[in-house]
Amino acid sequence: MTTLQEKDQKYLWHPYTQHKTAAIPIAISRGEGALLWDENNKEYIDAIASWWVNPFGHSNKFIADAIYKQLTTLEHVLFGGFTHEPAIQVAEKLMQILPENQKKIFFSDNGSTAVEVAIKVALQYFYNKGETRKTIIAFEDAFHGDTFAAMAASGISFYTQAFQGMFIDVVRIPVPVKGQEQASFDALEQLIKNHNCAGFIFEPLVLGAAGMVMYEPEALNELMSICKKNNILTIADEVMTGFGKTGKTFACDYLNVEPDMMCLSKALTGGTIPMAITTFTQELFDGFYSDDINKALFHGHTFTANPTGCAAALASIELLQTDAMQQNIERINQSHLKFESEIKKHPRVTTTRVLGVIFALEIQSENEESYYGTMRNKLYNFFIKNGVIMRPVGNIIYILPPYIMTNAQLVKVYEVITKALEIV
Ligand SMILES: *Cc1c(COP(=O)(O)O)cnc(C)c1O
Repeated sequence: MTTLQEKDQKYLWHPYTQHKTAAIPIAISRGEGALLWDENNKEYIDAIASWWVNPFGHSNKFIADAIYKQLTTLEHVLFGGFTHEPAIQVAEKLMQILPENQKKIFFSDNGSTAVEVAIKVALQYFYNKGETRKTIIAFEDAFHGDTFAAMAASGISFYTQAFQGMFIDVVRIPVPVKGQEQASFDALEQLIKNHNCAGFIFEPLVLGAAGMVMYEPEALNELMSICKKNNILTIADEVMTGFGKTGKTFACDYLNVEPDMMCLSKALTGGTIPMAITTFTQELFDGFYSDDINKALFHGHTFTANPTGCAAALASIELLQTDAMQQNIERINQSHLKFESEIKKHPRVTTTRVLGVIFALEIQSENEESYYGTMRNKLYNFFIKNGVIMRPVGNIIYILPPYIMTNAQLVKVYEVITKALEIV
């Protein structure tokens, strides 16, 4: 154990970690582009963009300069009763790239709070109208974060089992994966008949934490249309999919139905400063606009609309919109498709899927593989030993690289995956 690791073990409590059985964390000392180096100067390729937040590479100069400039102009000011140009610029920028019907934005600090705000708005919108609608609809395998309403909407029991019975009302429908669409539509119609539903929250087209599970835009169009017909609010949780991951700016750009709300975080600031945004239609905002103070949204966070975070978000969106970055996304997509056409012939591979920069494959397995099971740990350790950071989900291996990952680095990642198939 190094000194850093000793001190870590003495003081720190890590996320999603059983400290008795987990390996001691690796101390990372610097990063550049798609690469990270640990304290012994061992190099790692960050093949999952550090939990999906970092599309433009580590220690990005362009974003760092924007942050420095903001920090030395106005680092923060309270957002209750005050406003500032960076927040307004982020709003104006988002209005250009969000679905047409999104007109208002609300700032918070992370993906879970973006979801929390969306769910609270859905529930209070009907409360303000004097309607009793208290149930939220979500997918069976959804992940929406770790705060209470976000946990309630999440389906993965690992994260939520200690808190069962303490949640808001959530009912679930199956994910409309290929061939299962009708079952999902039918389940939705049935639930709407039997419950007073306020909103439907979903990860559009890709369920990240479930193992990059994908489904078609047509299926989501249908589910959202059923909701619209029944006056149920639709909430697109684009915390993972937003800002280019699916090949378009937002997964919702593949749809021909527009959501009522969207949740954004992760890549919003290029992986630099924690920040999140929930976006709304004018109609939702108007549902809180009143002479009655009780109808206001009494929700906020101390660091709401932090100007430094806003400056990072602006710089990130600017980078995303460059031709070079769009070409990178396309290049990685093409590269994944080529790798997919080869690796899917491997006898241990049962399914593969690609959307935008996201690639996933499932390994054939005798047993039901649990989220942090034996196969997962074996794969994870193999990848780390070979200098690639990936976090398999059960028997699913996925890649979600920073968009600036080079072809040579991609090839190395593919090679390590191919070798890993021989050890499990
Ligand atoms: C990561 C994630 C969240 C939670 O975001 P945090 O910043 O970790 O709170 C919510 N929804 C989706 C789809 C996510 O991938």
